Amino acid sequence: MKNKILISACLLGENCRYYGNNCGKQNLINANVEWIPICPEIEGKLETPRPPSELQGTAEDILLGKSNIVNSKREDVTKHYIDGAKICLEISQQENIYLAILKSRSPSCGLGKVYDGSFSNNLKDGDGVFAYLCKQNGIKVISSDDKMQIQKIIDI
Ligand code: SF4
Repeated sequence: MKNKILISACLLGENCRYYGNNCGKQNLINANVEWIPICPEIEGKLETPRPPSELQGTAEDILLGKSNIVNSKREDVTKHYIDGAKICLEISQQENIYLAILKSRSPSCGLGKVYDGSFSNNLKDGDGVFAYLCKQNGIKVISSDDKMQIQKIIDI
């Protein structure tokens, strides 16, 4: 039996991205893997389409209530992001997930690089809120940009 792997739903073609589209990858959609698709922003009851949002501090500080997440209208959307990340972590734990492939640069799913909070298309080091929670809870996270690692997983 194949192990279950968590994946950002938009990578499997679900139209849950902020602009109402997806970033589906055919090699992932066709892979012989038992995917568990999640979208923290939908679980957090954000609408689609929705304005883009960016972290104003680190994921750790946001989860500790020391910083926040705002959208491009400067509305505070932190609670949606934290609620959604926690719901998706619960799903992961119920499914005994040990590995996740998450969409790069997202304020929820991004790993290693996220937009810097200025809405000027600049990146900074850091993780999205859900990716950070996964790592803190022993789930290995692979970025959707890491094509070599993803290919190895698909080929197993
Ligand atoms: S929160 Fe994650 S799964 Fe949902 S649209 Fe953004 S990158 Fe995709």
